[in-house]
Amino acid sequence: EGGMERHEYDVVVVGAGGAGLRAAIAAHEAGARTAVVCKSLLGKAHTVMAEGGIAAAMGNRWPEDNWEVHFRDTMRGGKMLNNWRMAQLHAQEAPERVQELEDWGALFDRTDDGLISQRDFGGHKYARLAHVGDRTGLEMIRTLQQRTVQLGIDVFMECTITDLMKDGQGDGPGRISGAFGYWRESGRFILFDAPTVILATGGIGKSFKVTSNSWEYTGDGHALAMRAGASLINMEFVQFHPTGMVWPPSVKGLLVTESVRGDGGILKNSEGKRFMFDYIPDFFKAETADTVEEADRWYDDKKNNRRPPELLPRDEVARAINSEIKAGRGSPHGGIYLDIASRRSPEFIRKRLPSMYHQFKELADVDITQEPMEIGPTCHYVMGGVEVDADTQESAVTGLYAVGECSGGMHGSNRLGGNSLGDLLVFGKRAGEAAAAYTAGLGARPVVAEADVKAAQASALAPFEVEGGENPYTIQSDLQQSMNDLVGIIRVASELEASLAEIEAFKERAKSMKVEGHRQYNPGWHLAIDLRNMLIVSECIAKAALARQESRGGHTRDDFPGPDPEWGTKNLVVNLNAEGTGVDLHEKPLPVMPDELKKYFD
Ligand code: FAD
Repeated sequence: EGGMERHEYDVVVVGAGGAGLRAAIAAHEAGARTAVVCKSLLGKAHTVMAEGGIAAAMGNRWPEDNWEVHFRDTMRGGKMLNNWRMAQLHAQEAPERVQELEDWGALFDRTDDGLISQRDFGGHKYARLAHVGDRTGLEMIRTLQQRTVQLGIDVFMECTITDLMKDGQGDGPGRISGAFGYWRESGRFILFDAPTVILATGGIGKSFKVTSNSWEYTGDGHALAMRAGASLINMEFVQFHPTGMVWPPSVKGLLVTESVRGDGGILKNSEGKRFMFDYIPDFFKAETADTVEEADRWYDDKKNNRRPPELLPRDEVARAINSEIKAGRGSPHGGIYLDIASRRSPEFIRKRLPSMYHQFKELADVDITQEPMEIGPTCHYVMGGVEVDADTQESAVTGLYAVGECSGGMHGSNRLGGNSLGDLLVFGKRAGEAAAAYTAGLGARPVVAEADVKAAQASALAPFEVEGGENPYTIQSDLQQSMNDLVGIIRVASELEASLAEIEAFKERAKSMKVEGHRQYNPGWHLAIDLRNMLIVSECIAKAALARQESRGGHTRDDFPGPDPEWGTKNLVVNLNAEGTGVDLHEKPLPVMPDELKKYFD
């Protein structure tokens, strides 16, 4: 392509969610020439959908709260598979990052004495989520976006990165030299020359049929990193949120925030039974109420009562709901009931949960101040992601960083609600600073090889060259159904094996994927490009899920129902194989937690 658009930066951030924007701000403030590239419009990133809040042990409601308690909750929530150092940094630094958002103009809800309010969420010992009603993500994005624009950071919107460039030098898998992509509207190519790329591309939810995720979450960062030679960890751990809408079909999967339960909502089956008391695992018995009376007293007196079982970590609640539905005690549309109407006044519900009120009213014609909601599990979050250094977020590829949902390690086998928004801020800042420092210390900059640019162009255009092939939409829809049916919330070896066979067949079909029309705004072409990422990420998930022969956190095996202490000592790591055609997997021991932190788990 003659005269391809080309830009030079020190740091290119791919993604404009909370992680990407926070990283860009940090890199810019550290003096790096920084660009943000995102495939949708600024302000549309997934982070905007976050509802409940940002977990940070500020101690505003409970002076007893501190980073040590938050660290312990995070590790226990992740069933001890988290990278301990990331969990520690997150717990220590999240309060400062929230405070900083406020300094930049975010308006949080308040306690009576004027501090940032903090709400209860599953798995957190104390009320800890800083929030703005149930629209916390919106306020977070608004604040970060405003600062990004004020600082004059360049933003490339509706621009999709499809390949990372490397210079083939240095140790191991080489050094980053740039990023290649296309403008969604014109279909024209664009090249960024840059010694660092920070991936902040979010999740992978679109590989599943029922999901709370939007069209963008096709695992691009996960796949870009792998193709560049980095590894992914924890990919078997996908979080199915217990409460997604189940009706009407057009909104199936849409999230119902955990705040509904944090604010008093309870779960009931078709017999009217509050069933969560039947599903309290031994691991959480000591801290969970075992009678309705104690659970109800907890909302007002948290010191002398234990938390309701509806606020167990998400994996526990999602499995319980799944079991009730399977046992035939589900609601008419295949969910179960989430009831806050019978427990709180209409005024309280409308004030605390305004978005939920409107969501149900407008989309399902249900008034949640009067009747229960019908809900069921939905694919929500991926714990797995790019394996990075805990302090800098750098991957095994020099100059390649990953942050936010597309990075792995922080959440272990299960993420606690509210811990993602904190993660974006804490590690966004760290990645931005590390990338800027690396760039500043560089002598000669890595150079993009023209042959690599040609290869990236050819690869992006390949779907136009196919004669008589298949439409990418049918492959995508078959993949989503297959992942939902075979790699969903409850897994078993035979189905995972079947899934891997199906993924191989999808890969074969994708080789002769055909798109119609031209490069100007062509969603079919965009999907054809995204689908390659979805396929490789799906293979990672299925392969790791088959290998991990135990149940832990977001990974439940019907054929290995309990956790296995042996598996509690290791992560599964996946790489692209040498031919670039599939996924290799190996085990890796967990980093060893120092003794001064071990004491919290005695
Ligand atoms: P995202 O915000 O997902 O942004 C990704 C960015 O990458 C986007 O700008 C996208 O355009 C861009 N991108 C992707 N691929 C490419 C590409 N190839 N080229 C260029 N750009 C690309 N977490 C909490 O902690 N608390 C909550 O209350 C909470 N509520 C949630 C509610 C909902 C409905 C959902 C779906 C999630 C919720 N989460 C919550 C999870 C949390 O919102 C996400 O994990 C988090 O926002 C992810 O942020 P991120 O910055 O990593 O990526």
